[in-house]
Amino acid sequence: MSVLEPVIELARGLGQVVRYMFDRPVTYQYPEQKRELRQRFRGRHVLKRYENGLEKCIGCSLCAAACPSDAIFVEASENTDEKRFSPGERYASTYEINMLRCIYCGFCEDACPTEAIVLGDNYELSFYSRRDAIYTKEMLLEGVPTTEMTTPRKTEPAKYTRSVPAMQDPKD
Ligand code: SF4
Ligand code: SF4
Repeated sequence: MSVLEPVIELARGLGQVVRYMFDRPVTYQYPEQKRELRQRFRGRHVLKRYENGLEKCIGCSLCAAACPSDAIFVEASENTDEKRFSPGERYASTYEINMLRCIYCGFCEDACPTEAIVLGDNYELSFYSRRDAIYTKEMLLEGVPTTEMTTPRKTEPAKYTRSVPAMQDPKD
């Protein structure tokens, strides 16, 4: 090894420092500063409602069947016109997702016939115990559009007979 070699290496190292010294920092000052998410980002689930406030989930359990990590538990009960949660015969009386099991694959979202379960953009999940990692229906269900549109509610007889809404065929 020549005597100049360490000096050259030192100069090369310093050159790297000078090169990046004036670059914009890439560190985000989280939580004050949040990174912009990609469009396809999949975060914490949300159980959606229709515009009239009825719950989209009909308790069919297809999401649970599609889930590769067995993270979803659904229990269905019967709707009545006196006490209606969702259109059609049944609603999810229990809906739970174990967030420690979930791998955010989105299969549940794909399997859902009513587009009730959607992976949103919230990634701020933290819990102190395994029990707290089980998100219940109350935690997952989105808020009602107005206070009169809450569920369960009394609805007009024979008005909401279809569990799955008529959807337009995809054009492409
Ligand atoms: S995102 Fe994937 S792993 Fe998570 S609950 Fe849905 S299907 Fe299961
Ligand atoms: S979220 Fe969708 S797939 Fe899962 S039980 Fe409800 S309606 Fe069925």
